[in-house]
Amino acid sequence: MMLTGMHVAIIGGDARQLEVIRKLVELDAKLSLVGFDQLAHHFTGAVKLPIDEVDFADLDAIILPVHGTTLDGNVNSVFSQEPIPFTEEMVQKTMKRCTIYSGISNSYLDDLVRKTGRKHVQLFERDDVAIYNSIPTAEGTIMMVIQHTDFTIHGSHVAVLGLGRVGMTVARTFAALGAKVKVGARRSEHLARITEMGLVPFHLNDLEKEVRDIDICINTIPHLIVTASVIAKMPAHTLIIDLASKPGGTDFRYAEKRGVKAILAPGLPGVVAPKTAGQIIANVLAQLLYQDLQKREENK
Ligand code: NAP
Repeated sequence: MMLTGMHVAIIGGDARQLEVIRKLVELDAKLSLVGFDQLAHHFTGAVKLPIDEVDFADLDAIILPVHGTTLDGNVNSVFSQEPIPFTEEMVQKTMKRCTIYSGISNSYLDDLVRKTGRKHVQLFERDDVAIYNSIPTAEGTIMMVIQHTDFTIHGSHVAVLGLGRVGMTVARTFAALGAKVKVGARRSEHLARITEMGLVPFHLNDLEKEVRDIDICINTIPHLIVTASVIAKMPAHTLIIDLASKPGGTDFRYAEKRGVKAILAPGLPGVVAPKTAGQIIANVLAQLLYQDLQKREENK
């Protein structure tokens, strides 16, 4: 599988994007790198250039950072001081088949994609990416718990909320470290799976009752679930780690008032394992670009 003949622009990003560059260079893609001027490393086959010198009409794909753009249409790069504008006008110059890739989206990017009619792939919506990313997320959660407790994970009582891609990995990982793990869910097939995993299931309707004896609560549900009345039932020493996307699922104001330590911990893969997180993105991107290339050859 090679990407010979594909022209890809990589615009901005952080350390994760270096793995993407490395992978695509290895696969022989032609790369235009924007926003990497402070990066000393030179990649063979990759040209660093400012955004206004990109040959948009020649591009097969545009790779944006995980966060896509800012709400006012700039792309952030940790390897450049300059803000990088990313506009509808630029995308209009591309060929119809040019695909835009990012991790997640926002209203600016959605609007640009709608107006230009280009295909946009949000990598973080993919099941495979979410499952791979759950591994560094669970490791980051272990780090946070160790930092904020004076007792071992082994032997502690942990409640994990949600049995999605993150919840399942986190529950399994804490159980493997010797914690006594119970998992809260609302679907009966999830309760069945929790049982099969050798963990203790409970229905989220019983959350207030179930938190009375816990040491650690790890939430993965992107919805207000750790409410004031739930926090009021927890032992005072309970540590809450909220992994759900901002603003999380915890009433942080009440937690603080009650003196229960509650921490919102977003973006753990990029923090604890940027190299792995970058490789996860790079591997999936390589496959998707290869599919784009095959489609292009078929349509010739
Ligand atoms: P997921 O697979 O969709 O799982 C979400 C879980 O939440 C599902 O089990 C779902 O159960 C449950 N849920 C959703 N809404 C609910 C509600 N109103 N009441 C009860 N349960 C509800 O998502 P994921 O991939 O595990 O990700 C979970 C969250 O973590 C997301 O917000 C994601 O952005 C975030 N995340 C954070 C990090 C980090 O570093 N902190 C890393 C990766 C992901 P049902 O099936 O019953 O709906």
